Amino acid sequence: MDRLDRAPEQFRNFQKDDFEADWIKVAKCKSGEVYQVKVKLWRENCALKTFDTTLCGNNFYRKIIEEVSSIAKLKFKYIIPIYGMCSEVTALVMEYMSNGSLNNLLASHSLMWPKKFQMIHETSLGMNFLHSMKPPLLHLNLKTSNILVDDHLHIKISDFGLIHWEEGMNKTLFMERLAARGNISYIPPETFTHSPDPPGTTFDVYSFGIVMWEILTQQKPYAGCSVTTVLLQVSQGKRPCVTMIPDQRPPECEQMISIMKQCWDDDHRKRPPFSDFVKQTEALSEVFKVPGPIHSGKNGDADQKANYPWLFSSVKKITNTEMSVSPSDGQYDKEAILSM
Ligand code: ATP
Ligand code: MG
Repeated sequence: MDRLDRAPEQFRNFQKDDFEADWIKVAKCKSGEVYQVKVKLWRENCALKTFDTTLCGNNFYRKIIEEVSSIAKLKFKYIIPIYGMCSEVTALVMEYMSNGSLNNLLASHSLMWPKKFQMIHETSLGMNFLHSMKPPLLHLNLKTSNILVDDHLHIKISDFGLIHWEEGMNKTLFMERLAARGNISYIPPETFTHSPDPPGTTFDVYSFGIVMWEILTQQKPYAGCSVTTVLLQVSQGKRPCVTMIPDQRPPECEQMISIMKQCWDDDHRKRPPFSDFVKQTEALSEVFKVPGPIHSGKNGDADQKANYPWLFSSVKKITNTEMSVSPSDGQYDKEAILSM
């Protein structure tokens, strides 16, 4: 037997019995459920995402199995590792992200600007990686519930490569599938029209622009609007309201806003590829790491608050727990979030 024959199988087909008996339901959504399960052999928690085959159709699942085994080979710091499938329960097995989705985090905690910038940058890195594949791997379902947060508050993109544009597919059907997942806000306007072009990388760039807005405002776009209203408004060039980004913000936020507006441009050809702006988001997220006057105030926090109010305050959320920035290292107080 040569070495290749003995290469360990990376993509596993798990049996139900491979997991401890107590499955913790994390979420129920339109296409299935997500559980936290413990793999007996590894003594490690994983996430199990089940697909309701009566809703998705058996064909959908068969396609996923075909696709996911190759997608699972992709490894990058900002995309979720996929360990395998569990065909017994029609599920995908992946890394468990202890802080859940960015969608939930944005709704429950006030994030400081350095953290917001870092999350925007990490998401752009993950997307840039997917688009750097040849051919580019399109996500087509980028939204804050598909950006997951680990216990150190770093992000990983999930559920990439599960939605496909199939050759000769009817665009209305494609749109309906996306809208049924509650994704209407993330769909670029050209998808609503009858143009025959299949979605390309600029589809994801548009969705990223909306994600940026959500991170900067900690609000949901088009809140309270019906699907039809969103379709109409977005087709007419309207976008989420930029004035909802808090006034008390670092000057560098203007550059973030400029990137965001380019990303959601009406004309998909004017949307920049991720590779064009990752350097910029990198520089912006590093602004806060530079030691300087921030750390040198005689009165410590009091001086810093006076000079850099945006470092200390952000939009208030429904909980009172703020994630505080330690002035010494710009990192977040992990206890604050873990105590929730
Ligand atoms: P879609 O099916 O379009 O991706 P969705 O993201 O809303 O829709 P799920 O992917 O099933 O639905 O995820 C639902 C929720 O489960 C997420 O918002 C997140 O809170 C949680 N979740 C999903 N995957 C994981 C994971 N790997 N670790 C921890 N929590 C997860
Ligand atoms: Mg998801």
